[in-house]
Amino acid sequence: MQNIKDVLNLESVGKTVHLRGWVYRIRTSGKLTFIILRDSSGMVQLLSSARSLKEDEHKELSSLVIESSMEATGVIREDKRAVTGYEVELSSYKIYQRNDNFPISRDLGEEFLLDNRHLWLRSREFSAVLKIRSTIFKAFTDFYYENGFYQVQPPIMVSTATEGGSTLFKVPFFGDEVSLSQSSQFYLETFIFSLEKVFTIAPSFRAEKSRTRRHLTEYWHAEAEVAWVDNEGMMEIEERMIEYVVSSVVRENEEELRLLGRDVEFLKNIKAPFPRIRYGRLMEMAQEWGLNLKYGDDLGADEEREITVHFDKPVFVTHYPSSLKTFYHRPDPDNPDEILCHDLLAPEGYGEIIGGGERIWDLDLLKKRMVDYNLNTEDYYWYLDLRKYGSIPHSGFGLGLDRLAMWIMHLDNIREAIPFPRTIRRTKP
Ligand code: ATP
Ligand code: MG
Repeated sequence: MQNIKDVLNLESVGKTVHLRGWVYRIRTSGKLTFIILRDSSGMVQLLSSARSLKEDEHKELSSLVIESSMEATGVIREDKRAVTGYEVELSSYKIYQRNDNFPISRDLGEEFLLDNRHLWLRSREFSAVLKIRSTIFKAFTDFYYENGFYQVQPPIMVSTATEGGSTLFKVPFFGDEVSLSQSSQFYLETFIFSLEKVFTIAPSFRAEKSRTRRHLTEYWHAEAEVAWVDNEGMMEIEERMIEYVVSSVVRENEEELRLLGRDVEFLKNIKAPFPRIRYGRLMEMAQEWGLNLKYGDDLGADEEREITVHFDKPVFVTHYPSSLKTFYHRPDPDNPDEILCHDLLAPEGYGEIIGGGERIWDLDLLKKRMVDYNLNTEDYYWYLDLRKYGSIPHSGFGLGLDRLAMWIMHLDNIREAIPFPRTIRRTKP
């Protein structure tokens, strides 16, 4: 058997090819039937006629319905009129499954397609999304291996919150209760004392009640934590990583990007360094753009959309007021009202894809911040231990891979960037 893509070339012309896959389209014209066969690599036109097949075989093929599965053998030739420029004249075939119908046709509603996501995965559009996601996950991992990081595996069932109780999912646990991890950050911090540079890709769970186009309740979280690195050093690593991931997608998936209608030239211009803008300065800029924002306001999905339509590259927003960030972020020693942190906002209206920064590494300060946040320090004994034994300055970040994928592909909703989205209203299929 061969991949369709591998036979679509002049060298194959005149040879007998053996293909298998699914019927993408089928059309009969007079005594000829044209079947577009697809596999994971591409598609090609098959020709069925009573010339090279028996009459009843030709009849059987002519009555196939889309998404039936089959094997095809025949001689390939060039044909400019065919979808991918070649045609295989069938000499034999095998049908694996003959469908009566296929539930998905054109022009079906969004909810219908979500209910049938398990079937919609085979569409050309979603196959393109899946291929691009695959490149994004690989490129992220490659980048960190190439830069001397170790990949580690923190737990998913946890008993300490990182991002506050309001978005915790609770799970019964032998008469007790645990939560599903909102972030691996605290565990990643434990690893740096042996490995210094670590990363992980794991699902994170957030009981997000707000319905925005960028929130899932289960998403793929890529996180890193690095010893001895400050806020600026962390941003430098991140911008190189984003450039690496975007350029990998441009290199590997130009065809898929074009199929999705993405402006590939725009992506080619995504090069580090990215601008750094202090939160305070950003609020001034927002006012100049006529937005109703003032110092101290939190930036949600709507505000970030209005801000980032003004950018054509990702931008780091740094030095948020401490009131807007949670307890573990390190305040600027020169100005404790501001935090040594950053969010990376994707341009074109997409907004936050990364949150990161320096972690408090002083034991007393961390304890004080936890008390300010009404947290029980005993629950976090192991996190505090890291500040008791050989504490060091360190930074880290969390990147939502589905949000990154959504921006790279320029999709309208994060649900279109993940195969089986989990939201407040959807856990099927
Ligand atoms: P937001 O303000 O958009 O809710 P956040 O500040 O809660 O984001 P962090 O806690 O900093 O986000 O999480 C790190 C990264 O994880 C975010 O920058 C984002 O890319 C991703 N992320 C966070 N929540 C979600 C979610 N519900 N669905 C998808 N990705 C998410
Ligand atoms: Mg959130």
